[in-house]
Amino acid sequence: MKALAERTDHLVQSNIRAITLLLAGKDGINLGQGICDMPTPDPIKRGAHAAIDNDRSIYSHYGGIIELRQAILEKASTYNRIPVTSTDEIMVSVGSTGAFVATIFTLLNPGDEVIVFEPYYGYHCNLLTVMGAKQKFVKTHGPEWKIDFDEVEALISPRTKCIIVNTPGNPSGKVWSKSELVRMASILEKHDLFAITDEIYEYMLYDGREHISLASIPGAFERTITLSGFSKTYNMTGWRLGYAVGPAPIIAKMGLLSDLIYICAPTPLQHGVAEAFGMSDDYFKEMGEAYERKRHLMCTTLEEIGFIVPWPEGSYYVLADFTPLRKRFDGFEDDMAASFTLVEKAGVGTVAGRSFFDDDADGSSCLRFCFAKEYPVLEDACNRLKAAFKPAN
Ligand code: GLN
Repeated sequence: MKALAERTDHLVQSNIRAITLLLAGKDGINLGQGICDMPTPDPIKRGAHAAIDNDRSIYSHYGGIIELRQAILEKASTYNRIPVTSTDEIMVSVGSTGAFVATIFTLLNPGDEVIVFEPYYGYHCNLLTVMGAKQKFVKTHGPEWKIDFDEVEALISPRTKCIIVNTPGNPSGKVWSKSELVRMASILEKHDLFAITDEIYEYMLYDGREHISLASIPGAFERTITLSGFSKTYNMTGWRLGYAVGPAPIIAKMGLLSDLIYICAPTPLQHGVAEAFGMSDDYFKEMGEAYERKRHLMCTTLEEIGFIVPWPEGSYYVLADFTPLRKRFDGFEDDMAASFTLVEKAGVGTVAGRSFFDDDADGSSCLRFCFAKEYPVLEDACNRLKAAFKPAN
């Protein structure tokens, strides 16, 4: 038989999903994959039921049903302060991952260079690799994950076309500040670059932090595609509904591409999620308070056990360093070993640190914990961790 396409050569099961498979059938708690398994709000579920019952089930416009695009337009201009005025600047897709695929295939040619910050979300990088883009990495380090913009500029070559921004960040929890975004916008303009900004965790913010969209910075919108989605905000990761916001001519091409790959996002589910916009703002307030408590429980537990914990500023992950545990326990030689040890000894799934770095060694002493769980489930996981890895004193 002839060989498969070369672009599939490097494809392997992601560590993010692997832990979910490893835990299947075990009495374990999955703090690995960011599944977000709290209930989806009732109005959204009822909206989807009604759409199915009423046979609103045929293809939509490839950019999404107009009611939903209209609602996203409104949200993008008020919450994100992005200077959008038309639904031509909005495209609904199959998850924000679907929007990311449409974006990179629209903006990039094979061989183009893209700047990515480490630690990164691996799906960004693996998709860039599949489409043939070359990545250049800029390292950031906790607890502040400061960006060395001189290093960013030094990496820019005539082939550089795009920079990936992710705020709040997965897995770092970094929330980009206004001054960082202003600096980034000026780099984009100076070097004539595009930005793709993944803002899927835009409502998970701690200690009173504010989410600022890169595209809201003057001069940035024209060269920025903003990606977000409903999965995380409304606990509906399996519905696969996300969207992109950007300049109309780029969104138009992305829509054509999205049409080829997906035709459209599932229509009854689009009708369902449109109901989210009728929910009161209390929803965000309650969600914010609940995540604040969960972050506190997760981070204090890890600190008690002995992890070095860069408390996340946003998102619902913490990338914690287990180096101090090596002296007290076996099974922490590296991140893969540590991840297995937590499953074996505590029944808790995590993601190995190497999943977020180009060089495995850079992630070899850390694990990512996801705290998007019901509070009692998270409490159970934390108790298991404390029982298995008793604090030193
Ligand atoms: N974004 C989520 C995570 O980082 C899950 C998506 C996935 O399974 N890749 O865990």
